[in-house]
Amino acid sequence: MTTIRSFNPPIRTLMGPGPSDVHPRILEAMARPTIGHLDPVFVGMMDEMKSLLHYAFRTRNELTLPVSAPGSAGMETCFVNLVEPGDKVIVCQNGVFGGRMKENVERSGATAIMVKDEWGKPVDPNKVAEALAAHPDAKIVAFVQAETSTGALSDAETITRLAHDQGCLVIVDAVTSLGGSPLEVDAWGIDAIYSGSQKCLSCAPGLSPVSFGPRAVEKIKARKTPCQSWFLDLSLVMNYWGGGTKRAYHHTAPINGLYGLHEALVMLQEEGVEHSWKRHTDMHEALKAGFEALGLSFVVPEGSRLPQLNSVTIPQGVDDAAVRGLLLKRYGLEIGAGLGDLAGKIWRVGLMGHGASAKNVVFCLTALEAVLSEMKAPIAAGVAVPAAQAVLAAKGY
Ligand SMILES: *Cc1c(COP(=O)(O)O)cnc(C)c1O
Repeated sequence: MTTIRSFNPPIRTLMGPGPSDVHPRILEAMARPTIGHLDPVFVGMMDEMKSLLHYAFRTRNELTLPVSAPGSAGMETCFVNLVEPGDKVIVCQNGVFGGRMKENVERSGATAIMVKDEWGKPVDPNKVAEALAAHPDAKIVAFVQAETSTGALSDAETITRLAHDQGCLVIVDAVTSLGGSPLEVDAWGIDAIYSGSQKCLSCAPGLSPVSFGPRAVEKIKARKTPCQSWFLDLSLVMNYWGGGTKRAYHHTAPINGLYGLHEALVMLQEEGVEHSWKRHTDMHEALKAGFEALGLSFVVPEGSRLPQLNSVTIPQGVDDAAVRGLLLKRYGLEIGAGLGDLAGKIWRVGLMGHGASAKNVVFCLTALEAVLSEMKAPIAAGVAVPAAQAVLAAKGY
């Protein structure tokens, strides 16, 4: 047998839909000594984690914790705990992730009432209002705030208000929005929310912060049937994360991963979450100026664009896979491809967390222009970087 050696990944610049570049401080935190997950020192770190998550989510919800698995598990945690067999759930779909919500509803034995919008458009609150009026027996409205598959931002505050007016709870996907776009769990009254560690928090993948408000906790406590997932059953997980002295073993926490998330949230607090939102917007403005100078157009209408996920249309005749392949091979730069109907038609360029930087904006524009020029693509040469730089200078970077 050939000797297999240590795995040494190359250094990349991650500007796709996630994972984003992990800050060296976070990698260093993850390399610290592993201790027991019931060690009093570890338990102290978990208590800090909870207040850091309160800060990031802008909530005081007692039931706030990182699920020990990626964003998809946070999604599933919300659905399997809040949805009971026979329930009706209104699911908004304007991209890939709304479709996964539908799967979760149906696998929980409930009926999904779909509110569909075109990929690239935000969720239309009028359609949500119509669905609520047509289905007064619906219990929950579920939607994605930041649709990473297209780059569209939906109005979480308005959709939540409409749902509450009809007595429904909301489940919000904030995997890509947390840390990158304004999000106010308590002020907007969001009942259940999940996120991920590897997007705008710049942490390694594998953890999903979640938070549940009082109405959601009440619904979980009033369940007639036990939650069908043992691992994600919050009534069991709460005994571990619930605080106090009686922490009981549920599963072995991903200890070093949690060190990383703790550091990521400390960094968010140092910067200030509002400043982080602004930095994402500023870098998006600079990248947008560069893309538009190149001649690339945005998929999502102005006003609904996510700063952290920039979708642009691939110019006619340009080979999508060849461009992404060359960016990776020659420059170590990863950008995202389109999904579903948008495969081969768009690129998705992430400016997430630590990666939302002037350095990444200029690097991406430079590398993309070089590759497109070499391929004789119909772009304007020599103008993208100056356009981005003008925006950066005007904003004081
Ligand atoms: C990435 C993402 C997810 C899934 O998160 P994983 O960590 O990949 O499981 C869910 N929803 C949205 C909007 C995402 O961007």
